[in-house]
Amino acid sequence: MVDEQIARRGLSDPRLLAAFERVPRHLFVPAEQADLAYADGALTIGSGQTISQPYIVALMTDLLELTGIETVLEVGTGSGYQAAILSHLARTVHTVELVADLATRAQALLKDYPNVHCHVGDGSLGWPEAAPYNAITVTAAAPAAPKVLLEQLADGGRMVLPVGGAGYQVIEVWSRQAAEFKHRSELGVAFVLLRGKHGW
Ligand code: SAH
Repeated sequence: MVDEQIARRGLSDPRLLAAFERVPRHLFVPAEQADLAYADGALTIGSGQTISQPYIVALMTDLLELTGIETVLEVGTGSGYQAAILSHLARTVHTVELVADLATRAQALLKDYPNVHCHVGDGSLGWPEAAPYNAITVTAAAPAAPKVLLEQLADGGRMVLPVGGAGYQVIEVWSRQAAEFKHRSELGVAFVLLRGKHGW
């Protein structure tokens, strides 16, 4: 998976590749799909939700440019897989999931990752209790980059999220310098929709 799907497609940061080598993805996918855990696609995880394709997890993580000292917020814990990846690349990870059943399952899997803190709630509001964040990633598609999330970015921080409607979105990369926010668009993707106050 790491060689053929991630490195061969141009993501070469050794820290990123090492993080993917360390996390057993098959533990995060439902048991009946364990044989597909390292396949080149998204998988369903129950409650109508998905665990993203490995390459997309890698790309979004790479765009956060983590060095190991960051406090990170992930909106959409889902299976917990991306939170586990982030745990190896940042100092502290806060992850918020709206669906309580998914949050419970992920929290049990993430007990082996002591720098990951799981929360249940509407992550479209961010998680103000632990703000500011050096990096924020939203793993469900928002109608637009929520202002309330941008405001939880630290100076110099970055946010990566898919923006768009059902079936097609574009990954946006936002950065904050003091009170100034800039963004650029990366590739097209298809994520499940973000729910909640600033979701769909
Ligand atoms: N990062 C996940 C992929 C999650 S799919 C992984 O590695 O497996 C997107 C997740 O976002 C789903 O679990 C969905 O329930 C959750 N979600 C949708 N809207 C949300 C919201 N407003 N707050 C928190 N989580 C939300």
